Amino acid sequence: MRITLAELELHRVHASEQYAPGALDYHGAEFRQVAPIQIDAIAELVGGEIRIRGRLSTSLEAACDRCLGSVTIPVTRDFDLFYRPLNTIAREEEIEIPEDELEIGFYSGDGIELADVATEQVILSVTMKLVCQPECRGLCPVCGANRNSVQCDCSPPQEDSPFASLKEE
Ligand SMILES: [Zn+2]
Ligand SMILES: [Zn+2]
Repeated sequence: MRITLAELELHRVHASEQYAPGALDYHGAEFRQVAPIQIDAIAELVGGEIRIRGRLSTSLEAACDRCLGSVTIPVTRDFDLFYRPLNTIAREEEIEIPEDELEIGFYSGDGIELADVATEQVILSVTMKLVCQPECRGLCPVCGANRNSVQCDCSPPQEDSPFASLKEE
């Protein structure tokens, strides 16, 4: 669904869409979308910017950072975004966007694609380290066994090794 300036100049736009797994391209992100994305948003013109706010929900799956087991990530994300026309920065040599304005994006042409908004919001929702459970014990660094299910007999790395501190997270 494309939200065009021409339509926004007449009235605000209610956008509601579903994207099945595989419909959006996450540019090689390390997760899989395993449920449809439901996105509901309201877009309007504020000054020369397109403001779009709403909510998105879906379910993702990724590998645990410690044991590589599967992690399910339920996503419900509220967003409130501003998109500036891209040609406004082309005229200025350099633009510095203050930290608190990171929710500002840019659009070119006659509007924005709702699918692009959804893609970006899904990627932004997966920023933290992913673990299958807070107490996940990870893989044994010596034999590779999953220490959540296997008790191997490997000796732990030497505490006094000069490299010991490097192995900590
Ligand atoms: Zn794990
Ligand atoms: Zn082991």
